[in-house]
Amino acid sequence: MFENLSERLSGVFDRLTKQGALSEDDVKTALREVRVALLEADVSLPVARDFVKAVQAKATGQAVTKSITPGQQVVKIVHDELVHVLTGDEDPGKLKIDNPPAPILMVGLQGSGKTTTTAKLAKRLKERENKRVLMASLDVNRPAAMEQLQILGAQIGVDTLPIVKGEDPVTIAKRAKTQAAMGGYDVYMLDTAGRLHIDAELIAQAAAVRDVAQPRETLLVVDGLTGQDAVNVATEFDDKIGVSGVVLTRMDGDGRGGAALSMRAVTGKPIRFVGLGEKMDAIETFEPSRIAGRILG
Ligand code: GDP
Repeated sequence: MFENLSERLSGVFDRLTKQGALSEDDVKTALREVRVALLEADVSLPVARDFVKAVQAKATGQAVTKSITPGQQVVKIVHDELVHVLTGDEDPGKLKIDNPPAPILMVGLQGSGKTTTTAKLAKRLKERENKRVLMASLDVNRPAAMEQLQILGAQIGVDTLPIVKGEDPVTIAKRAKTQAAMGGYDVYMLDTAGRLHIDAELIAQAAAVRDVAQPRETLLVVDGLTGQDAVNVATEFDDKIGVSGVVLTRMDGDGRGGAALSMRAVTGKPIRFVGLGEKMDAIETFEPSRIAGRILG
């Protein structure tokens, strides 16, 4: 599909005279290729530009290592810089869930994989950390979404808050809080409503729920295949609601993962988890080097 960056760069360097150090011209030529590779991987233009500048500063004048070709050397510098930019939290998989019951607010656009991710994380907390989790759907406009969470809960053996018709999201959030406290749950997860696009009502509703629940974590679920759009979504949600981390879904698809770099660079928010399929176990803690490898191709 794409030409691999290592191949591109070895082509570039084959045409250059071998010298003892990477000259400014060598690096410039190579970085043009790096920029194209980043853009092909769906990294946004300003982020790609800044990134290339940082790599340029690091690569110029670096002694050429005998054991690897100059092309490989630039790829390594690029890889290390990608990991550097992508690294957020030391332990992205560790959710802040002390002081039970700890609320986790799940936000994102409709179809991003929010409900699926809520259940995947609940299962993880249950199995890996032995936590009692309660899940509640606040998507009052879409009864099917509420039922979906209930079905997933039954499938993974995690309790869901009983559905009461006609309740508004804030009332449901309050009920979840009470039930979580009375029922001795460690965590309660609030799966907020999604829309196809961000609008004022969606944001107002999520903000009202946030104010009531005072979440320990607010996780934004973003479709990793949406590229540049993902950055806008993350910026908006973070400005209006405040986000503590991002979950990138559909990273099992053939997207190149450039959204991860753009989102991290633009919003500064750590990517915490990566969704890798529809199954309930298809979620992993975010690993910068894996995404870096994928962006490089
Ligand atoms: P929501 O509207 O944001 O709650 O989205 P859903 O959780 O209902 O997910 C929408 C669709 O995406 C469902 O068919 C999910 O199975 C699917 N999905 C969610 N996460 C992933 C993922 O990481 N990879 C893939 N391939 N599909 C996913």
